[in-house]
Amino acid sequence: MAEQIDASFTLTGIPISRGIALGRAHLIAHTALEVRHYLIEPSAVEVEVNRLCTATEEVHTELLTLRDTLPEDAPEEMAAFLDVHLMILHDEMLTKIPAQLIRKQRYNAEWALTTQLEILSRQFDEINDAYLRERKADVVQIVERVLKRLAGAAHALAAPTSTTKDDLIVIARDIAPADMLQFKHHALIGFATDLGGETSHTAIVARSLDIPAVVGLQHACQFIKQNDWLIIDGDIGVVIVNPSQLILNEYRDKKNQQQQAHKKLQRLRHTPTQTEDGIPITLLANIEIPDDAPHALSAGAMGVGLFRSEFLFMNRGEHLPDEEEQFLAYRNAVNAMGGLPATIRTIDLGADKPLYADHIASPNAALGLRAIRWALSEPHMFLIQLRALLRASACGPVQILLPMLAHHAEVEQTLLLLARAKSELDIAGHAYDANIKVGAMIEIPAAVFVLPMLMQRLDFLSIGTNDLIQYTLAVDRTDSAVAHLYDPHHPAVLQLIARVISEANRVGMPVAVCGEMAGDPNMTRLLLGMGLQEFSMHPAQFLHVKKEILQANQAQLSKLVHNILISTDPHTTRILLAQLNSSS
Ligand code: PEP
Ligand code: MG
Repeated sequence: MAEQIDASFTLTGIPISRGIALGRAHLIAHTALEVRHYLIEPSAVEVEVNRLCTATEEVHTELLTLRDTLPEDAPEEMAAFLDVHLMILHDEMLTKIPAQLIRKQRYNAEWALTTQLEILSRQFDEINDAYLRERKADVVQIVERVLKRLAGAAHALAAPTSTTKDDLIVIARDIAPADMLQFKHHALIGFATDLGGETSHTAIVARSLDIPAVVGLQHACQFIKQNDWLIIDGDIGVVIVNPSQLILNEYRDKKNQQQQAHKKLQRLRHTPTQTEDGIPITLLANIEIPDDAPHALSAGAMGVGLFRSEFLFMNRGEHLPDEEEQFLAYRNAVNAMGGLPATIRTIDLGADKPLYADHIASPNAALGLRAIRWALSEPHMFLIQLRALLRASACGPVQILLPMLAHHAEVEQTLLLLARAKSELDIAGHAYDANIKVGAMIEIPAAVFVLPMLMQRLDFLSIGTNDLIQYTLAVDRTDSAVAHLYDPHHPAVLQLIARVISEANRVGMPVAVCGEMAGDPNMTRLLLGMGLQEFSMHPAQFLHVKKEILQANQAQLSKLVHNILISTDPHTTRILLAQLNSSS
């Protein structure tokens, strides 16, 4: 990192995943938002280059056909216009250079093409001649045609596989959660995006990668160039571009210190998780795909507290997973947990998790047809999922978790569908756990006010703090413009959470927190003081939270938490929280 060419500058955003990363910027172009981007295996490079060539040839044929079938009365310049597009299509800027990006950077074809488009767009923007500048639109149109062709063949793509690349820092305007998932098994070292809030699903998946990440930077895509040297400081939410040697040295030291601290933390790996006053605490894993389950187990998970099953459905085009595919996926997760419970949430699509990348969302997506509402509006699909979940329950302990409940009818309709799924499996001769437990996610304030109904009809509760905060405070969790109002410490939020935990504890009903709050070590004592005993989080957080648990005295904490809950003055709350987190 010695050759430092460009001026150094710093961008500030929202920190979403701890740690420090030093590496080079890999821009995912703004225009690439709807395309898949992943790294390919060296052995697949030529196949990928061929995909690009084939798509280019198909567009060539498409343009020729268009030119040859122009109506008699078409304006004369139309044919010339199509000829220009043919020339652009075959210009080496759109053929040779993307192919080089595939070969050298191992980008998939769509990523290579849109990266190159981004570079060309910037060059066009700098041209003084207005006529030439306008030609950018032609290039964009051609690239879009090629992308469409590539998308047509997308289902034939091999799944992205691992890579040895080790300095990849992805910079994007935004990344869809499903696309972020594709980076799960790549050796990336950092992420930074212009958009996004702390608990957007993109941020959640990024955090599960356990690499430093910052969102809400606003202008990263505008100011950071491909291959710029970067430092991502995920602790304070800062990205330093082209850092000076002095800053670099400082950050290298800081990174070393963090690595030492991380090593030290590993010593807690086999210590039983209980408070100082002997209360056993259960640490469960949040997972997105079945492949996460073995990692969760080896990290010390005592079960899966939240399997976000919707990730199996996203970006699948017309080919949604059928009962067999779902059954195999759930069974894989269940088997990987080796007899520990797996809580699988039914499909939670909508809002920032659309079914397809170009899905037209309802005008107010977070308040629209989302989660259980969506599932009940597609009863056929929901029934398939319930059958697959039931079948998986014959292979090990499975619990079904229902997202975003608020209405009595949602509970009753789901239980009816579940009964129907059971009788269909009886007829088909499939085994399942007849007493499978069904739980409610508490994510909407209204659910807290109908707890007696939920507790009467269902078997356990899991508090989704990400949405509970969003819906209590009317703050879009994905919108960086209102991120400062997304306050987990707001008295209304704390009172709702405390109420759910104490109601459940009073009647001995299992209750967990599975939102990001559960994995935040700064919130551990607060939740313990409220009486929480089940925490579900990404496994990377386990030891950080465990460290807090081991030093905490639940009896003492509950007294301090009582004072926090009755305080409505933010200043007093802050002081009390600081006291809580420094008490032993
Ligand atoms: C939550 O809302 O806290 C939760 C765990 O669900 P998700 O983040 O998937 O909406
Ligand atoms: Mg939620």
